[in-house]
Amino acid sequence: MNEIFLCTICNVTNGNCAEDCAYCTQSSHYNTNIVTYKEKSIDKIIDEARIATDSGALGFCLVTSGRGFDLKKGLKDTKLQYIAKAARALKETSMKLHLIACNGRASYEQLCFLKENGIDSYNHNLENAQSFFPKICTTHSWQERYETCENALKAGLGLCCGGIFGLGENKKQRMEFIQSLASLNPHTIPINFYMPNPGLPIKQQKMDRTEALDIIALMRESFPQSRLMIAGGREIVFGNEQKEMFEAGINAIVLGDYLTTKGSSMNDDIAMLKQYGLEIATECH
Ligand code: SF4
Repeated sequence: MNEIFLCTICNVTNGNCAEDCAYCTQSSHYNTNIVTYKEKSIDKIIDEARIATDSGALGFCLVTSGRGFDLKKGLKDTKLQYIAKAARALKETSMKLHLIACNGRASYEQLCFLKENGIDSYNHNLENAQSFFPKICTTHSWQERYETCENALKAGLGLCCGGIFGLGENKKQRMEFIQSLASLNPHTIPINFYMPNPGLPIKQQKMDRTEALDIIALMRESFPQSRLMIAGGREIVFGNEQKEMFEAGINAIVLGDYLTTKGSSMNDDIAMLKQYGLEIATECH
């Protein structure tokens, strides 16, 4: 019987990002009508972590919008200090969460600092193939993303790194993306499927279910040891019929809401997993 790992997202800041990633509703370049806010209080973060823990989640990801930490300010960067403070507060509770930080570009020293303060893994997605990336983002490079992933590994953090399919990339580019991911060998790979939004410049339709299942199977074949996590797009691609997704190789899901879109209710997802005969992981290894 498969064991499914549950992870929750806590977007501690939202929107107003100066980057122009064409698939992202948090970019200030596009009119996507999302709720924007600056730092959530530490108390609110802990409350959300409790709800996640009570639902069986083992992973808790502190996500900020924006390109990343200020590399010039180094350890004095205020966003870095805030994430470290949140991580310390969470580790001081009795909750035994695996803490992931997702804060964009980061230096080796900044990532070491997060590790010292309680962060276990770093999430930074390559998003897509290097050759395709200039078509979906012009304000930063793919190489910059890759370097942050290397920094996370060097700092001794677990690496959570994946991307988003269905942006208009071709099959060859998908293979190129998979090869790049393989060179980093992430312990967890988030798989997102593009969620069309009228405010975004990418006009691709939602991905066809069969094509999405083929991608999951290909990812499982390519990464037999990694945790394959289905993230954004799960509900719009698979609706209420999600069993095949697990059969194709998914063994982790994002529980609850995504960054700017509602997910299924946590209770509904747990009930679905039970109905499929899947066990919920109780240990993060
Ligand atoms: S993906 Fe990240 S860097 Fe790009 S627009 Fe969204 S929040 Fe900004």
